[in-house]
Amino acid sequence: MKWNAFPRIGFTEHATPLQPLSRLSDHLGGPKIFIKRDDLTGLAGGGNKARKLEYLAADALAQGADTLIATGATQSNHARQTAAAAAQLGLDCILLLERRLQGQPAEYYRAGNALLNRVLGATLCEELPAGANIATAVAELETQLIQQGRKPYVVAAGGSSPLGAMGYVGCAHEITTQASDLGIKVDYIVHAAGSGGTQAGLVAALCRHKHTRVRGYSVRFDSNRMSAIVHAIANQTASLMDAPSVRADRIEVDDTHIGDGYGIATPEALDAIKLLGRQEGILLDPVYTGKAMAGLIADIHSGRFSADQNIVFLHTGGAAVLSAYTSLL
Ligand SMILES: *Cc1c(COP(=O)(O)O)cnc(C)c1O
Repeated sequence: MKWNAFPRIGFTEHATPLQPLSRLSDHLGGPKIFIKRDDLTGLAGGGNKARKLEYLAADALAQGADTLIATGATQSNHARQTAAAAAQLGLDCILLLERRLQGQPAEYYRAGNALLNRVLGATLCEELPAGANIATAVAELETQLIQQGRKPYVVAAGGSSPLGAMGYVGCAHEITTQASDLGIKVDYIVHAAGSGGTQAGLVAALCRHKHTRVRGYSVRFDSNRMSAIVHAIANQTASLMDAPSVRADRIEVDDTHIGDGYGIATPEALDAIKLLGRQEGILLDPVYTGKAMAGLIADIHSGRFSADQNIVFLHTGGAAVLSAYTSLL
């Protein structure tokens, strides 16, 4: 089945903008940088989980679900966007959150997405300790809800199932159309990679594209592990579309900007956040997009991208967490 034939609930009214970052490009003196504004999708502040949830929520409704269950870290954008999708569709939402980071300032546990989850009316289960067996906790919750006569739908972690990744097959086609309208050839789409679905969808769509490559800046796993995750989802997504499988050499992951780990800001990411704020009036975040922008800047400085290239930075959202990192900014 073709990617756009799968049932889908539109959470974003228009295509998100593809815009030149002229001031940043001049400042860095390297390739022409464009930005794909997936921070401007729907669902309570936007972000990349909205495109995945368009397919996953449609699947939940088709299965007659009355409750969405989502998992993630304390400041998960995915959890917040799932809570918003559930609210919009009149479903209940239960969030099982993992306290992946200990000993943060109080605002980390109360502000940002933690605050938005409460505003959106999600039920927050007691936070699980770091490294807890999330799958077991989810299975227990699911069983319990079914026994109560409810119809839960478990949303894949980060929305990164093959069906969720279909959202980024769509985004890749949207970028291709917008680039041709702007009269440019895109050499690279670069973005932050966490659970892998975004990169998997982009790669599944572009794997036979002669010109455009995709580079993910991992914020969590080393490049071997991240590449394996992306490759597996990309192949499953391709198979849903009856497309041929994706060659491993199409998966490109840079793991040198993770710093001390998931959710822990790096000095380079904080600098990148301030740079984008001041040069372009655009908000990045310390967990994902700040690290990805730090990666892009490092790659420009090292000469990986040349002055005649066009690079699209896919803005995947995340600025909702900024207030949780008050003390760093
Ligand atoms: C989830 C997320 C990502 C990573 O996307 P994956 O599909 O999980 O790899 C990047 N940026 C932001 C802001 C996110 O919330």
